[in-house]
Amino acid sequence: MIKPLVAGNWKMHGNTETARHLAAQLVAQWSDRPVAERSVEMVLFPPSVHLSLVKGAVAGSGIAVGAQNLSQHGSGAYTGEISGDMLVDQGCDYVLVGHSERRDLFGESSATVAEKFKAAQSSGLIPILCVGETLRQRQQEQTVAVVTAQIKAVIDCVGMHNVCRAVVAYEPVWAIGTGETASPEQAQQVHRAIRNQLGEVGLSTRLLYGGSVKASNAAELFGQPDINGGLVGGASLEAIEFFNIVKRAE
Ligand code: PEP
Repeated sequence: MIKPLVAGNWKMHGNTETARHLAAQLVAQWSDRPVAERSVEMVLFPPSVHLSLVKGAVAGSGIAVGAQNLSQHGSGAYTGEISGDMLVDQGCDYVLVGHSERRDLFGESSATVAEKFKAAQSSGLIPILCVGETLRQRQQEQTVAVVTAQIKAVIDCVGMHNVCRAVVAYEPVWAIGTGETASPEQAQQVHRAIRNQLGEVGLSTRLLYGGSVKASNAAELFGQPDINGGLVGGASLEAIEFFNIVKRAE
């Protein structure tokens, strides 16, 4: 049995006050049961400048914290970058790698994504590897080819075993922040292809779906056999809505 994970990607939103408030609201909702009895893991991905504040706000609640990005380099003259070790030092357990906004807006190639994945694991972080096709690629029936190639680039760099001990998030680019969601069948089809690609070693790897997940569509998506939770953007900025999504994964 794979323990589902629901992750909230706050992207570049908020300030100290809103970050503290959102984290406190989630802790209040989540604290009705002992950590050991929870059947879902919740992870928050605030902006890097709010990591230690959010880590402090969720301390003792069982809610984990992760970063939205990291450098592929360990240390050195890389102005503006943040290393995996620095994120661990701030209390992170997870880090997003290869989010489509990083690939598209910041030109991260699959090779760079693979290096970042490797750097994350070297620091002891659990990478959530994001993959997904554009609308054009879907229309040209290239979805599975695109997604499996994005994963293969990381397998070629770190090996199958290391990919399988991470988390993979399938996020169709056309569904991110658009209000458009893949149907549960469309999502399951791609998740099954990923599961097949990972083979025996990947039978217990957590595969998340991301792309306009809301409380109203989460249960059907999370009910698919190869979907083990979700990566949530917009809806994670609203405590009640996000908490209801988390509950749908139980
Ligand atoms: C995301 O940022 O990973 C995401 C899935 O965003 P949204 O839920 O807003 O589509």
